[in-house]
Amino acid sequence: KYFNRKEGFISSLLGTTKKPIRAVDDVSIELRENEVQGIIGESGCGKSTLLKTVIGLNDPTGGDIVYKGKRLADFSQDDWKEFRKNVQIIFQNPFESLDPKFTVRESLAEPLNIHGIDYSEERIHEALERVQLNPPQKYLDRLPKQLSGGEKQRVSIARAIIVEPDVILADEPVSMLDVSTQAAILRLLSDLTEDLGLSMMYISHDLSTVSDICDQIHVMYLGRVVESAPTNQILDNPMHPYSQALIQAIPIPDPFHDRPRTRLEGSPPSPEELEEGCRFKDRCPDRMPRCDTAPKTVEAEPEQFTACHLHYEESNVQPNADAPVQ
Ligand code: SF4
Ligand code: MG
Repeated sequence: KYFNRKEGFISSLLGTTKKPIRAVDDVSIELRENEVQGIIGESGCGKSTLLKTVIGLNDPTGGDIVYKGKRLADFSQDDWKEFRKNVQIIFQNPFESLDPKFTVRESLAEPLNIHGIDYSEERIHEALERVQLNPPQKYLDRLPKQLSGGEKQRVSIARAIIVEPDVILADEPVSMLDVSTQAAILRLLSDLTEDLGLSMMYISHDLSTVSDICDQIHVMYLGRVVESAPTNQILDNPMHPYSQALIQAIPIPDPFHDRPRTRLEGSPPSPEELEEGCRFKDRCPDRMPRCDTAPKTVEAEPEQFTACHLHYEESNVQPNADAPVQ
């Protein structure tokens, strides 16, 4: 209906810049209708910067954010209005979206008001039912302090979906909740994307939570996507040493199927200290001399893109890409 399958409706190409510090560099992600794209990385890897750039709070110094075929840079006032309604964010901390003085009813009425949608009690009830706060009457007059952590996050989600968006950008939406609540909220987000035909970009530092709900995973390291692939493929056969370390770090509950665990040594260098070459080289067990040259992103397996010299073969490189210096 709205979307051009080929173009995707948010694709970000944050390309080269001359600035000395690049929080996000060389990232290309396409989000299509009814798809969930996961972005994974340690804190400080550039996930939040990427999110801010996607919604137009940061101007990219190079590249483009494209929504439904149109660059954000070319948006008119009306385009921005539509975009702000259609692209909703769910934050890590529900307090960022819930005013402590607002009742649940007021919290849900606010986005309707902002986006010029008629208020109706029915709409509010429906949104609360969608996030499984039942019966809605029980919650309408409560303040955030009268809600549990999980209930607050459900109200935040209700605020996002009540304006009938196309896209949800979820920034670590469960990381502040206890483990049992995390699973319930993840299931809810996953069901909502199905039922409402939403697309979601799901940002997290925790690969184990995203693997259940994402169609595709992009692993970020120091502002770069180092590997992108369909979820099952990346879990079964991670190709980049950093993805391998993240996947091996996922705890497995079954003691009979233990697997070797690699610990990631050290911490990422700060962006100011970045040297030439692969950004992961200081922590990489497979480092070799040519890693002093930045690896190019290649399609190492069908639909699996990785930026690592281990998987570099001439045949994988796009015809216009430069060969790396050995
Ligand atoms: Fe490791 Fe080299 Fe691959 Fe970087 S390019 S991840 S240092 S093997
Ligand atoms: Mg963050």
